[in-house]
Amino acid sequence: MTTAHRPMISIAKPLIGDEEKQAILEVLDSGQLAQGPRTEAFERAFAEYIGTKHAVAVVNGTAALVVALQAHGIGPGDEVITSPFSFIATATSIIACGATPVFADVDAFDFNLDPEKVDELITDRTKAIMPVHLYGHPARMAEFEELCEDNGLALIEDAAQAHGAESQGRRAGSFGTGCFSFYPTKNMTSGEGGIITTDDDDVARQARIIRNQGQERRYYHEHFGLNWRMTDITAAIGLVQLGRLEGWNEARITNAEALAARITSVETPRVRPGDRHVFHQFTVRVPRDRDGFQRRLLEAGVGTAVHYPVPIHRQPIMRKLGVDTADAPIAEAAAEMVLSLPVHPSLSPDDIAHIAAAVNAAY
Ligand SMILES: *Cc1c(COP(=O)(O)O)cnc(C)c1O
Repeated sequence: MTTAHRPMISIAKPLIGDEEKQAILEVLDSGQLAQGPRTEAFERAFAEYIGTKHAVAVVNGTAALVVALQAHGIGPGDEVITSPFSFIATATSIIACGATPVFADVDAFDFNLDPEKVDELITDRTKAIMPVHLYGHPARMAEFEELCEDNGLALIEDAAQAHGAESQGRRAGSFGTGCFSFYPTKNMTSGEGGIITTDDDDVARQARIIRNQGQERRYYHEHFGLNWRMTDITAAIGLVQLGRLEGWNEARITNAEALAARITSVETPRVRPGDRHVFHQFTVRVPRDRDGFQRRLLEAGVGTAVHYPVPIHRQPIMRKLGVDTADAPIAEAAAEMVLSLPVHPSLSPDDIAHIAAAVNAAY
């Protein structure tokens, strides 16, 4: 593999243009910097995009999860069943509410939470199920909806990687209470940022109170809340990025299809028929010598990342907190074999050809 004159292809690349810069300057000139009219406009536009009645903007994706859980009244003594194969915030947000995460194994098809495994773990302490749309591929939402309905549970979606993903024509974040992140590596960014989507008037109302110091009227605090507010500078960036999201999602899907058509040496991502995978990550399966494979790709100028090397229940902090038990062999096997390749919208056709050739040569 020749690497001469070829710059490194990075695993992620946030795209910020003149429109975003202009939008920030307009907010600075307006003098209204904290949560204000741009945040409201961003919430309306995002709710419309996802197809929900409400959206409540917050400071980051982790806060979206914490505020959503609290808006559903989840706290000490409650259990929330979730995926052990995710970013740590999926579980720490539950712990931050005083509740206990219970880990069910994932589905070998797409490494998303398996509804059948969840079903086995429901007890009278279970208050919610929190699937994650890992890598931008929707979890099995029809089954989760049914499980929640049958057992009277809240459905909270960790949609931090799934802006625009669809299952049976419905967007991720519209099945239950959706939680999104706008961190720079996500499919759209606002720097830092997060948002909660819901059709439930009461959940939206609670979320608005919780993010704003637990007050409905200024300086009268009937509820417990903190400051989780988004700034109008952040919202202004988010509004511009939301307008560009569909073009970027389409570019990710095109890139993923081109990679999958060319890569022959390792297994490429599976997409369930009828679902829309928005390829936050393009994650291949490397059954042996992943470290060597990753090193050879780096030498060929292809940046990669492991999402995630350690399942959540195996993390040292979970042992300290006593939530390190899980029967999750599929999650454990996944952690040893996954590797994400670049799939972001700035890749050129030449980059795609180079990545695929490097992958086929390295394994
Ligand atoms: C990014 C991410 C989060 C947290 O979002 P932040 O904005 O970084 O706080 C939560 N869950 C998943 C699955 C994520 O990928």
